[in-house]
Amino acid sequence: MNDTPARPPTVADIYRARGTIAGVACRTPLLPSPALSAHHGAEFRLKLETMQPTGAFKLRGATCKLDALSAEERARGVVAISSGNHGRGIAYAAKRMGVRAVVCMGSLVPRNKIEAIEALGAEVRIVGDSQDDAEVEARRLVAEEGMVEAHPFDDAEIIAGQGTIGLELMEDWPELDSVVVPLSGGGLVSGIAIAVKAASPRARVIGVSMERGAAMVESLRAGKPVPVEELATLADALGGGIGLDNRLTFDLVRTLVDETVTVTEEEIADGMRHLFWREQLVVEGAGAVGVSAVLAGRIARLGERVALVVSGRSTDMHAFMGIVGEGAATGR
Ligand SMILES: *Cc1c(COP(=O)(O)O)cnc(C)c1O
Repeated sequence: MNDTPARPPTVADIYRARGTIAGVACRTPLLPSPALSAHHGAEFRLKLETMQPTGAFKLRGATCKLDALSAEERARGVVAISSGNHGRGIAYAAKRMGVRAVVCMGSLVPRNKIEAIEALGAEVRIVGDSQDDAEVEARRLVAEEGMVEAHPFDDAEIIAGQGTIGLELMEDWPELDSVVVPLSGGGLVSGIAIAVKAASPRARVIGVSMERGAAMVESLRAGKPVPVEELATLADALGGGIGLDNRLTFDLVRTLVDETVTVTEEEIADGMRHLFWREQLVVEGAGAVGVSAVLAGRIARLGERVALVVSGRSTDMHAFMGIVGEGAATGR
């Protein structure tokens, strides 16, 4: 929860966000994938958010959020709840602006993400086993120390920042038929869907979650936000609930996202292996799920021109080598 008004961003807000993030977050390339296009019945291009300085798209929203704070709020400092990448984005943006940042995370966050956040000078608090536990600590810091909460997805500034990806996609490939987006709390897919559908109402937006703890998919099925157990998964950046008091992303995903699918742990590993062996890219599990869904044939209607958002690369390299090493014999 945070106290900015619960109004979703408009396309105009997303254009404004683009001006705000220029020079901090990168305009990322949209790379053709001949390897996928040859075998999976469509032309595929990869939107490489792995190229962001923090290793994931979350820098876009984090930069926007911090920029929107008043001088008085900046002086109080920001507290972020995170599965890792949002915390790193906030830490990076806060350091540039000289703002104090505290990042609250659950114990499933990988060590490499914690170290990257600490290296940026932010304070890390590991609280309990889930992001719900981390949220309790974040609320305490807001109540007792007057810090400002920077929510990872349920916030109009964050959604507008992530939406800048949608603007770039439509400039680079206006004729695309669908966009496949990793989905957790839904800030990423909501922002992209607002921008993409404004430019091309017929374009389909597809969200992909991991089967182990797909909070948004289960909430859509239930017709309201529901809690899920947070489990260890290769797609650790997709872990956590959507908030039982969700104000923006549940409705946005429900109205704007055309299809949601889930992938298994083995399919996530296949996606990571494809990206490594066939595209020469290092991608974390959460970033690979779009490719996983295509490889596994999980998406009902793809169309002919398909953009896959490859959302992050922040992986523990030893664990990563273990996963992709299994593909060494076959090269896939
Ligand atoms: C946070 C994150 C996502 C999901 O974004 P939401 O806005 O929570 O849906 C996907 N991929 C990566 C790498 C992330 O860090």
